[in-house]
Amino acid sequence: MRPLFAGSSGARYGEVAMNNGAKRSRRELFTFAGALAAGASWTLKGQTPQKPDSPPVTADQALRHLVAGNERFLTGNRTSPRGRPEEFRALADGQFPEAVVVCCSDSRVAPEILFDVGVGDIFVVRVAGNVIDGAGATVKGSIEYAVAELNVPLILVLGHSGCGAVKSAVQHINQRDSLPGSINGLVELIKPAVARSKGLPGDPLENAIRQNVQSGVEKLRNLDPIVGPRVKDGKLEVAGGVYDLRTGSVILISNTKPSLL
Ligand SMILES: [Zn+2]
Repeated sequence: MRPLFAGSSGARYGEVAMNNGAKRSRRELFTFAGALAAGASWTLKGQTPQKPDSPPVTADQALRHLVAGNERFLTGNRTSPRGRPEEFRALADGQFPEAVVVCCSDSRVAPEILFDVGVGDIFVVRVAGNVIDGAGATVKGSIEYAVAELNVPLILVLGHSGCGAVKSAVQHINQRDSLPGSINGLVELIKPAVARSKGLPGDPLENAIRQNVQSGVEKLRNLDPIVGPRVKDGKLEVAGGVYDLRTGSVILISNTKPSLL
């Protein structure tokens, strides 16, 4: 295995709307654009881009970039960065995404759009219900690849309001009926989170959606042998959030303190 990157933010995230701190984030975004421009020059020189020994940004910076992009999205000010031919061609020989985003397959939850990022910026793993626990090698292996091979410093587990997969788990939690095909198996994976959210004040579906994200975050933080150890060493952060279909806002919901999960 290649050397691990050195240094990453030990920042802790509380519950915070993602549309905060836009000014600083935008400045950092320009810095990131500069790093990508450097990658372009490697390609033009005929050299193979090399994975840097340390990530181009810290977890804290990566999250701020997502925060800033979501602010632009929800205010109707998307810049749609890094989508031009000279920009995606420059990444043909290597990728350096800043974050892994694990989100639902729902057509209304398009991470590159709602975070206003471009080609090469985020490593996306999409699966209905953004399930992680019990999801098997396809989901976990994809996440582990981004962490181990691409040195991504941040994983964001992103649920969303009105999630149909979670809604099915809520509706069928006490029923013995079986949903058709593999849908049943998928919904079964979400039921433990629904059970954990039972009895909480507020809307049962919103609570289950939130708990489903938190369960995913918790699973990743303890996932051996790749993700968990890097989190414990402070080289990787795992955050959780819920996207609101009506407002376009992403609310971070998970604090890295295990006691809050
Ligand atoms: Zn969904």
